[in-house]
Amino acid sequence: MLSKNKKLERKITLNQETRDGILTFCKMNHPNEGILILRGKSKHGNVLIDGLVIPPFSETGADFAGFPHNPLPLDPSYIGIVHSHPAGSAEPSLTDSNNFFGLVSIIVKSPYENDDIFAWDSSGNKIPLDMGCSLFYHFHMVLVLHWQFLSSFHYF
Ligand SMILES: [Zn+2]
Repeated sequence: MLSKNKKLERKITLNQETRDGILTFCKMNHPNEGILILRGKSKHGNVLIDGLVIPPFSETGADFAGFPHNPLPLDPSYIGIVHSHPAGSAEPSLTDSNNFFGLVSIIVKSPYENDDIFAWDSSGNKIPLDMGCSLFYHFHMVLVLHWQFLSSFHYF
């Protein structure tokens, strides 16, 4: 598909709170699929996921999770989607590939433990997933906030 384009090496960082939220949501929806919007930031190909949003008008079933894209606000912090596969592998299905949204598609297979989380890009390639610990996450956020604070003095 886009194999001639040199793609950025991506890495997805998922903090513990978000990971726990995803796994709990998947378990709650079992045996149906669950779907959530991933919120976060992307910088130099590194995607930091720091929040989850329940999509409006979502419809889920045993073998289908999706929602119409139109009602979604074009929020730049919406960087992808996570959904569960109650049965089978965590490989993206054809439907998943056709409905790719944002930068990353995370798929969680049953029984929804830490090892069952996989991240994919729009071409169906696996993206390394960094399960950052909370301490690192907070440290990172402090740096980001500090940087934003310094940036706000740009005009002085
Ligand atoms: Zn799927």
